[in-house]
Amino acid sequence: MKRFDNKVVIVTGAGSGLGQAATLQLAEEGAKLVLVDLSEAGLQETQQKVLAIAPQAETLLITANVADEQAVKGFVDATVEKFGQIDGFFNNAGIEGKQNLTEDFGIDEFEKVISINLNGVFYGMKYVLKIMKKQGYGSIVNTASVGGIRGVGNQSGYAASKHGVVGLTRNSAIEYGQFGISVKAIAPGAIMTPMVEGSLRQMGGDNWEEVGKEFVKPNPMRRFGKPEEVGYLVAFLLSNHADFINGVVVPIDGGQSYKY
Ligand code: NAD
Repeated sequence: MKRFDNKVVIVTGAGSGLGQAATLQLAEEGAKLVLVDLSEAGLQETQQKVLAIAPQAETLLITANVADEQAVKGFVDATVEKFGQIDGFFNNAGIEGKQNLTEDFGIDEFEKVISINLNGVFYGMKYVLKIMKKQGYGSIVNTASVGGIRGVGNQSGYAASKHGVVGLTRNSAIEYGQFGISVKAIAPGAIMTPMVEGSLRQMGGDNWEEVGKEFVKPNPMRRFGKPEEVGYLVAFLLSNHADFINGVVVPIDGGQSYKY
């Protein structure tokens, strides 16, 4: 018996990076998966990878923008319609936004990052928690960031949104524990995904790999994290093995957040 046999998990941002890595781990452990992303091509890629490792995995692909409340309600409704239950929710889609000093951080950019990273996470929790409360069970893992527990700099929108995700996590955790539901967050450090490559390119252009090497020098482990390392953590936190872990924010950063 695998940990996610007969379990249904929704993953947002499933078309790339951490969402894709968690999806593959969950698929290997038997989950039925609802994969949500803005990018249809990303979803197709993830589905192909899922079928390569778990040919009988059941998947539902939904192209949706998490910043659109009705679209979020739509993918939650579609999950219940197809599978009848929601055991786990990896509420993960997010963007970094352009890096800039606070005074130069455009209002439009700020609002865009908040609408996806914070409003999107809230909408997901709002609709999924309603279902989980009726069921009397469920686990939610929100993706915060080291930028949600420490100041990193040049990331007003990102910092505000990810600190907000930590607040939403703690607030709902204490509300919903009594209904058998746990709500957790992860705080990844620099994990080598397309998002991080994009931000290194912003800093270093074609020289981004060199910039990356400098960037990870202060990390106690002297390297970037790997997406699959986050996948293992998310699968554990969404599994029944982590039912009594509630309201926590788990850093996965090689120890860097203790060093800033
Ligand atoms: P990524 O860019 O590789 O993947 C993000 C995915 O989310 C993409 O497939 C993208 O299409 C999707 N997405 C973006 N906006 C969306 C929207 N509005 N609606 C639906 N889907 C949308 O990035 P990643 O590194 O895998 O990041 C995933 C999450 O992890 C984000 O919330 C990010 O802030 C967080 N995070 C990443 C790191 C890191 O080092 N990679 C560190 C800390 C936190």
